[in-house]
Amino acid sequence: MAEKLSTKVLIVGAGTGGYVAAIRCGQLGLDTVIVEADRLGGTCLIRGCIPSKAMIHAASKYETVAKAASAGGTLGITAQAPKLDLAQTVAWKDGIVDKLNGGVGGLLKRAKAKVLTGWATFTDAKTCVVKTADGDVTVSAEHVILATGSEPVELPFLKFGGDVISSTEALSLDKVPANLVVVGAGYIGLELGIAFAKMGAKVTVVEAQERILPLYDKALTDPVRKWLEKHGVVLHLGAKAKGLGEGGKGLAIETKDGQALTLPADKILVTVGRRPRTKGWGLEAMGVDMNGPFVKIDDQCKTSMRNVWAIGDLVGEPMLAHKGSAQGEMVAEIIAGKRRSFDPVAIAAVCFTEPEIVSAGLGPNDVEGRDDVITAVFPFSAIGRALAIEAAEDGGFVRVLARKDDHRILGVQAVGQHVSELSNAFAGWLEMGAVLEDVAGTIHVHPTLGEAFHEAVLRALGHAIHI
Ligand code: FAD
Repeated sequence: MAEKLSTKVLIVGAGTGGYVAAIRCGQLGLDTVIVEADRLGGTCLIRGCIPSKAMIHAASKYETVAKAASAGGTLGITAQAPKLDLAQTVAWKDGIVDKLNGGVGGLLKRAKAKVLTGWATFTDAKTCVVKTADGDVTVSAEHVILATGSEPVELPFLKFGGDVISSTEALSLDKVPANLVVVGAGYIGLELGIAFAKMGAKVTVVEAQERILPLYDKALTDPVRKWLEKHGVVLHLGAKAKGLGEGGKGLAIETKDGQALTLPADKILVTVGRRPRTKGWGLEAMGVDMNGPFVKIDDQCKTSMRNVWAIGDLVGEPMLAHKGSAQGEMVAEIIAGKRRSFDPVAIAAVCFTEPEIVSAGLGPNDVEGRDDVITAVFPFSAIGRALAIEAAEDGGFVRVLARKDDHRILGVQAVGQHVSELSNAFAGWLEMGAVLEDVAGTIHVHPTLGEAFHEAVLRALGHAIHI
């Protein structure tokens, strides 16, 4: 007979949404069961954010040495041409993933959340059957938190398998493909494409829209485009992938001007987006309303079914790890009786491209046509720290947008090396409702890249110092 469990909170999915919700539930003394079919940590820890950043880091180290070897050492450093053993790099990356996966297990244990390993299928809104290695377990709960995440979108004419890969396989290749074609110039495709270009692959990017990173404004993406062009990455913008070339070789595309081409490809990385994982676990049996492909929620992450909550990639954009975690913490607190709602002023987003991009709050496209907004830009080329760490040459800048009348900061964006590290400061100022004078009056440490933000704010006030 199937084992039966009943609990206060049942969470399905142990990604950055679900496992954070479980830890917070445990901290708040709520009896919690979390179900995960795969490894604790979900997309972000196992096959997303962390492994991709590890590979990007390794690729940058390799490129630095390769540059010193070929350019004769611009910093007075010379080197022998480096060798890359990708299988070893991947093993190093896997070590980091294993460490974090084990860490999540430890944190869940400490929070006294019970982990069930297996696939959950709901029979009604508050009951699911989990297929564990030791047999079926039926779990019924007072509260259910759905955190089943997302999966890569597959193109019907370019199915995953063989040399057609998703980001998951791209993070575990055993050798650098001589020719890599990336279909889709969003952040995942470009982050990985740039990493492989640094590791020596000949990279070609095919994008249906006219621009790379179409969700970001052109000024922010231009330095990335320049990097790609400078480093020999071929861009086919406004082009359509059509399928494998003749004999299954290469990628057939139609270029912007209607030309049929076959691009040589040892691997074809398809990164055309991710979709919420809504199939195969009985969502239909739960009777929750949908919002397009996503589960519909309100500002407390409540679904249309009483005491059924949903968080993370399953509920919509932005599909980012930190959004899901914040929702998970909040839902746990609401279940524990705290008054909370999800109303962030800004959820900063970062592209770990070359150079990096960060965007928080409103950007120029959001305020187009408004004359009540001041926009000011400060270039990294006028920042000593940027020059000292070779981060000034790629056209990077910080941009601030603020209301004209009361100087309330509405948005901050940056493009440049290492700007991901500025993202939390940007979000923090926005969340605190800061005005330009708050930032202007804060003494910024010298020499740091953050001084570019201070100077952009001073510029908005009409008195930047270093320009
Ligand atoms: P997921 O992390 O997808 O976790 C859902 C979990 O639910 C999975 O482990 C799955 O196995 C489990 N599951 C699903 N259904 C069931 C079921 N029926 N029974 C049992 N278990 C089930 N975001 C960032 O913020 N920053 C980044 O730099 C970043 N980089 C990324 C790079 C790549 C290559 C990719 C692919 C994604 C990246 N993301 C990044 C996005 C980020 O990974 C996701 O936003 C985040 O993982 C979503 O968390 P989640 O908890 O909603 O779902």
